[in-house]
Amino acid sequence: MKKDNSRIPFNVPHMTGKELNYIAQAHFNGMLAGDGPFTKSCHDWLQMRTNAKKALLTNSCTAALEMAALLLDIAPGDEVIMPSFTFVSTANAFVLRGAVPVFVDIRLDTLNIDERLIEDAITSRTKAIAVVHYAGVSCEMDIIMDIAARRGLFVVEDAAQGVMSSYKGRPLGSIGDLGAYSFHETKNVISGEGGALIVNREDFAVQSEIIREKGTDRTRFFRGEVDKYTWQSIGSSFLPGELIAAFLWAQLEEAEAITNKRLVSWQVYDKLIEPLEVAGAIRRPIVPAECTHNAHMYYVLVSPDTDRQAVLNEFRRQSIATVFHYIPLHSSPAGIRYGRVHGSMEVTTTQSERLIRLPLWFGITSEQQREIVGILSKTLGMQP
Ligand SMILES: *Cc1c(COP(=O)(O)O)cnc(C)c1O
Repeated sequence: MKKDNSRIPFNVPHMTGKELNYIAQAHFNGMLAGDGPFTKSCHDWLQMRTNAKKALLTNSCTAALEMAALLLDIAPGDEVIMPSFTFVSTANAFVLRGAVPVFVDIRLDTLNIDERLIEDAITSRTKAIAVVHYAGVSCEMDIIMDIAARRGLFVVEDAAQGVMSSYKGRPLGSIGDLGAYSFHETKNVISGEGGALIVNREDFAVQSEIIREKGTDRTRFFRGEVDKYTWQSIGSSFLPGELIAAFLWAQLEEAEAITNKRLVSWQVYDKLIEPLEVAGAIRRPIVPAECTHNAHMYYVLVSPDTDRQAVLNEFRRQSIATVFHYIPLHSSPAGIRYGRVHGSMEVTTTQSERLIRLPLWFGITSEQQREIVGILSKTLGMQP
């Protein structure tokens, strides 16, 4: 990844200050492989927050999604319903098992999968629904869980952006059968690369540990539950080493403070941009009443007659990094090759072409935010 040298970068990774101490401690402990004391602290924290049957650190959210596909025993020809407006890993994890992603459209308000379109996309081959909580704002989980229960489907939550977010008081990642978190540098709580699998079913608890440990019951062996460990099923090496866990522990300890500070900056944008929405120049993010979000992202949707590229160019000219987001998977080369569209992709197509993400990180100043909104107003032909 190229370093963002903009005067106002899009993201600045936040360090809490304790990361190097904990890494030094892990170094001193002399235990560098996975599942040492720092990993255990992270697991306990995640399990307590999500009330999961099991929470396991992984090398990435991508790895957690791949574990989910293995746990659900996804096989060639199986179908997984998901939005097209998402990161490639949501689909890739299932395509690796030979499954077909079935893309359905998103909601106009949250840009999350439109739960009203899911049932019509179900076939005899459908095995799971993979939902994505865009910008850390929850999908309509009660309705989705009800469809899944009635039709005998699994639900996987791609909660990569949803750490510390909730739906009706329940943490994202804890509602479906499985949830996947990301601690990538671009997320709120980070370890460079990193992620976690949240296991919400007792009957997946042991198997999730086996899949993560190269298909062996090594984790049970270390707990003293078996007297030797052997090859039990297919699996891979999905666990991070202790240095990553040590770094992450310094972040999880501060997760609440990080979220609160980001929320303040998010609110600053929301207030400053309100007049632009009133004037009809843009639309702000919509957070349904039952959702508590984590200020992962602040985006605006410019109106259809606005030249988005011109707005992005003006920001670039002033050395401010603003970016669009996903090229919908159904219109990407691999998405066309491996996936299938169900129904109209109208909202996905039109909204993805209107979206601009603004710089947001722990410590962005309100002066920087005012400058950004000033430029946005001007490029949209409005009084700042
Ligand atoms: C960031 C992200 C991922 C990938 O996370 P990694 O930890 O980098 O693998 C997957 N899905 C969504 C929605 C994301 O935002």
